[in-house]
Amino acid sequence: MHSETAKNIRESLKADCSKCFGLCCTALNIVASSDFAINKPAGTPCSNLQRDFRCKIHKNLRDKGFKGCTVFDCLGAGQKVSQDTFSGQNWQEHPEISKKMFSVFPIMEQLYEMIAFIAEALTFNISPSLQDKLNKQLEKLQGLSDMEADSILSLDITTCRLPVNELLLETSEYIRNELSSKDSSISIEEQCRGVDWIGKNLQGKDLRTSDLRGAYLIAADLRNSDLRGVDFIGADLRDANLSGADLSTSMFLTQMQINSAKGNDKTILPDHIQPPSHWIN
Ligand code: SF4
Repeated sequence: MHSETAKNIRESLKADCSKCFGLCCTALNIVASSDFAINKPAGTPCSNLQRDFRCKIHKNLRDKGFKGCTVFDCLGAGQKVSQDTFSGQNWQEHPEISKKMFSVFPIMEQLYEMIAFIAEALTFNISPSLQDKLNKQLEKLQGLSDMEADSILSLDITTCRLPVNELLLETSEYIRNELSSKDSSISIEEQCRGVDWIGKNLQGKDLRTSDLRGAYLIAADLRNSDLRGVDFIGADLRDANLSGADLSTSMFLTQMQINSAKGNDKTILPDHIQPPSHWIN
């Protein structure tokens, strides 16, 4: 696959709530916390969800204690389940499908997350053999997401993740090595994977090509830091301050991670990530 096609796939993975039957507001379990004002069991519609599947407090989610709703991003899994898997039938008019639909959604979400990461990996300048393996994996995942509901429900998602994780790791190491070997000014921070930098002052730090997989960066001060070529897969960026930081060529950064962080108009993001509205307002 041409990297431009992969880029288009990655950029097309966006939620379109107008084509979804409020699945994230219904299918998922919500536990009351500073991010959600209420408890809500999985399979029960949120009390703010209207008959038209729109949120009645959409414009005031943060003020009303539902910050988590502004962070969430299904990457389009919601409209895929609503429009494709269940052919546009909604759970209000067809309550007999609701249980199955709500069970398929979190699986589709995970498949879409994997598709997004693999498509992103294919946008990098990688070896033909790695490209070939990624293409095969992407095709496989797309095939799984197109299956009928019962087949999706029978998937062992943990087993699906294993080859994906291996390929993403291989891609990450390949790219970070390439970048650091071409630029002698890059000094790689050792053993950053899963590091606990909660609340740490990293202002202005050069972290280029670091492996921050699974790192705890909650409320870390990353203002004006250089985060190019950093692998962010699974990193917790809640309330991390990214104002003025350069993440332009970071890897495997998600919209949800960015939505949960702080930043400003000086933060440089990869093409497939949009600055959240709460950074500007
Ligand atoms: S508050 Fe709105 S966006 Fe959040 S779960 Fe409820 S209906 Fe959905």
